[in-house]
Amino acid sequence: MTTTSQTPPPRDGSDAAQAAARRHLWLHFTRMSSYGPDREIPMIVRGDGPYVYDQHGKRYLDGLSGLFVVQVGHGRSELAEAAAKQAGELAYFPLWSYAHPRAVELAERLAELAPGDCNRVFFTSGGSEAVESAWKLARQYFRAVGQPGRYKVLSRDIAYHGTTMGALSITGVADIKQVFEPLVPGSVRVENTNHYRCERCRDLEECTLHAADDIERRILMEGPESVAAVYLEPVQNAGGCFPPPPGYFQRVREICDRYGVLLVSDEVICAFGRLGHWFGAERYGYQPDIITFAKGLTSGYAPMGGMVCRDFLMEPFLEGQRTFLHGITFAGHPVSSAVALANLDLFEREDLLGNVRANQAAFRGTLEKLLDLPIVGDVRGEGYFYGIELVKDKATRESFDGDESERLLRGFLSPRLFEQGLVCRADDRGDPVIQLSPPLICEQEHFDEIEGVLRQVLNEAWSRL
Ligand code: PMP
Repeated sequence: MTTTSQTPPPRDGSDAAQAAARRHLWLHFTRMSSYGPDREIPMIVRGDGPYVYDQHGKRYLDGLSGLFVVQVGHGRSELAEAAAKQAGELAYFPLWSYAHPRAVELAERLAELAPGDCNRVFFTSGGSEAVESAWKLARQYFRAVGQPGRYKVLSRDIAYHGTTMGALSITGVADIKQVFEPLVPGSVRVENTNHYRCERCRDLEECTLHAADDIERRILMEGPESVAAVYLEPVQNAGGCFPPPPGYFQRVREICDRYGVLLVSDEVICAFGRLGHWFGAERYGYQPDIITFAKGLTSGYAPMGGMVCRDFLMEPFLEGQRTFLHGITFAGHPVSSAVALANLDLFEREDLLGNVRANQAAFRGTLEKLLDLPIVGDVRGEGYFYGIELVKDKATRESFDGDESERLLRGFLSPRLFEQGLVCRADDRGDPVIQLSPPLICEQEHFDEIEGVLRQVLNEAWSRL
């Protein structure tokens, strides 16, 4: 190892820490060259409620809950204490052949909260592993029940489902897949529910549910006997919050039942209050066969993910010598399990689901004020989860081309919003959008703050165009 200095890097945001970060830290999905001598790497050193603070003591409203994670807000000592207590008692033991009390309590609690007979919990350490585990379970399950030809999965255009090779194969964002090809075979795309840009029904009173019917079309095209599962988020994140049209999930459920295909609800973002319910499936009234989750389960105070499955999926694995041939060292980690339990306690004590339900209309109303700006084409989402689509021409819904989007989002909006004290995400995995997902403790004053910063910065962006 070569180091930039003999002394260890300080933990604060001094010049030495900047130099050490530049020399040794590899940021995820980040163009490292954009941090040159004239632009420092933002370093977040502390958090308190919905706010975080950088190395210079400057405060930011965390409008993205870190990365759709910190549901209860930052700096909650209850969660830190739960972690410390568990680490003192039993810091680590695997779930391979053994159980430990916190994982058992958490599995039981999640089974109670999850809809219907989703009663069996398989833990992972994060979201990609959860998505990948669900695909492996679907494949091994179908072999076990005498349908070995079912291995394919369907997911939607532009939907993000993770980065490990299996999860990346399921992901529908072409730009982050191509350099890793060939990927896992058997993953195909279907339409998403982007109503704002839908040629077929954006001007109609009601959606025709063609995006649900596209799932049936694709199952028939692939051959139903080859399809294992369809992966859908309750509200699709990538592309900028596409909520389902009324009746969409009911139609999808019927299609899955008709062809014996598993419905996987990828709730890595949408579970644990993001939409005002424990699970997004509950909000839209459908029964998934598997729910994948991560992020908000621990509010990020420890890493954890998993899937909760309906009883029938476990049945073949309760017989004879059959074993689900899958496991992860840190899955169901005792410290993470203890933190998750304390996090769920906090949700209940502070009625955070109630807070989201009571304030979601105000959040929407506040963001919708931005529709008076010429650059704001659409404001869409549910609960505390919104996307704001930016357009060049509101009347025609004309979007920005690749270069304009690059200059607008990466070149101007991302750094400027941060400079103005708002953490959010300017994203162009579909058309350019700003994504918002504030902690579930937020109220009107925070919505106003978000709206104020966005209004100022979007006005600046427009005048630069
Ligand atoms: N599925 C969805 C819907 C996600 O949003 C994400 C992460 N943003 C993942 C899966 C992957 O989760 P992770 O980053 O924890 O691996």
